[in-house]
Amino acid sequence: MLYLCATPIGNLEDMTFRAIRILREVDLIAAEDTRRTRKLLTHFDIHTPMIRFDENCKSDVGEKILRRLQAGESVAVVSDAGLPAISDPGADLVRFAVNAGITVCPVPGANAALSALICSGLDTTKFLFAGFAPKTNKNRRDFLQRLATVDATIIFYEAPHRLKNFLTELLEVFGDRRAVLARELTKIHEEFLRGRLSELLETLGEVLGEFVIVVEGQPLSKAVAPEETVSEVVEKFLAAGMDKKSAMREAAKRFNVSRREIYNTLLKEETQ
Ligand code: SAM
Repeated sequence: MLYLCATPIGNLEDMTFRAIRILREVDLIAAEDTRRTRKLLTHFDIHTPMIRFDENCKSDVGEKILRRLQAGESVAVVSDAGLPAISDPGADLVRFAVNAGITVCPVPGANAALSALICSGLDTTKFLFAGFAPKTNKNRRDFLQRLATVDATIIFYEAPHRLKNFLTELLEVFGDRRAVLARELTKIHEEFLRGRLSELLETLGEVLGEFVIVVEGQPLSKAVAPEETVSEVVEKFLAAGMDKKSAMREAAKRFNVSRREIYNTLLKEETQ
């Protein structure tokens, strides 16, 4: 059995009874950072052997873990904080295990994205977890442009030193939407900063601690109605901050036709 075990994202009281029991009972704990996890295990009086499982060693160690699972041992995966496999190592191990027919079992608990979402005050009926944006400028722009038309609350993770730049880009691509910065969740300095993206950028002082960014989806008033013309749809994507090429690509998807057809239709509509 492979257990995916949640650990606290700040407050140690968020460790669950079940997580403690499972971590005591398994044969091996696969941890992202063994030194960090050691502190947690010591706090809860857990003495199970550990192995490092992170991005750099995941294929070698993954194979080792798989062999032990196939031999009938049980293994728990933990990340530094929160749910393993959510913007953290673990997903590959789950894939290896699933392919090998090994049972995978969740041990739920703390998670930064959902904790931020439920306190955001934004729509929780439909949401999209986007995780970390790509680091290169072009990939990040493309990534944000693809999200600009999503009609659901969007949740991002971002490192503190990149937060201000990221908010600036969000404002450029998404327009001035409502957003929430959830800071230091479950910790002493927990706080929620709410406002339009421009207001958050203005009021945000020194960026300290960990943040989740929750942004409202494309406002319904801007959503595309099926009876709209190609040029109206393209105009809306442009107004949402996309460049012309991306706007035409998105319109092509929306009408389920090629970009060339969108281009030709635009020309026709313009001359009518
Ligand atoms: N696996 C974790 C989870 O389930 O939430 C996420 C790990 S990811 C590597 C780390 C990112 O999660 C941080 O950069 C930050 O965006 C967010 N995060 C983690 N803990 C947080 C906290 N206590 N408060 C706010 N954001 C947090």
